[in-house]
Amino acid sequence: MIYLVEHFYSIQGEGRYVGTPSLFFRFGGCNMRCEGFGCSEVAQDGVKVLGCDTVYAVNKEHFAHGWVPITRAEELLSVLDLYELPNSVDIVLTGGEPLIYVNEPIFVEFLEKLTAFGHQITFETNGSLNVDFEKYPIYKECIFALSVKLANSNEPLAKRVRGDVIYNIASNAKDAFFKFSIDRDSINIALEDEIQSIQLHSPKTKVYCMPVGGTKAEVEANTEPLIEFCKAKGYNFSDRLHIRIWDANKGV
Ligand code: SF4
Repeated sequence: MIYLVEHFYSIQGEGRYVGTPSLFFRFGGCNMRCEGFGCSEVAQDGVKVLGCDTVYAVNKEHFAHGWVPITRAEELLSVLDLYELPNSVDIVLTGGEPLIYVNEPIFVEFLEKLTAFGHQITFETNGSLNVDFEKYPIYKECIFALSVKLANSNEPLAKRVRGDVIYNIASNAKDAFFKFSIDRDSINIALEDEIQSIQLHSPKTKVYCMPVGGTKAEVEANTEPLIEFCKAKGYNFSDRLHIRIWDANKGV
């Protein structure tokens, strides 16, 4: 079963394609929790759930009541009719972790039809779940933003950094880039070493560093120290434009 949390037409706020008009599909569920990011949200049942800035799309136990179960690819495709879109538009598949659905026939059919209609697909993924590019060649037409989790996520190393997965995706996808979420307290030599060790799995893949934060204030507090880190190491800084503009609002 595929769960859709929300969809919205906006601009891409992060990474290499920042500013590009994009239709976002946010899918429910993730193979991680990333409680180290320190964001939290109170669920309808009154429980305060700790996690990342999209904890409402990660935690099935407390938030799935608001997720829409999808049983046919047409249900996802019909979302495009709800918006006035250009003939071909960037489609961003995010979450949660969209690749938990990588082998679902409905999901693969959805990708194939989007591509046949001329849309460009970008996955926002944590880069820990493998993709079978030979069995499902449609994934070779997709772009992957590899948001590999660092130690500040509090996820175990063996779970968050899968060198074989990173290499496979970066070698087979149409385009791929690394996108790391970093807060000012994590900027140290250990962080630098970790980014370099991740990049070793795909040395030509460009690195974008963006400030941790689910609110404008958090993003702003982490921005300047991160820019200094990027200047020193030669990484690209990526803003989180949507949070800077719309703060903690969802669906924008
Ligand atoms: S992998 Fe991404 S979506 Fe999943 S918990 Fe971590 S930050 Fe959130």
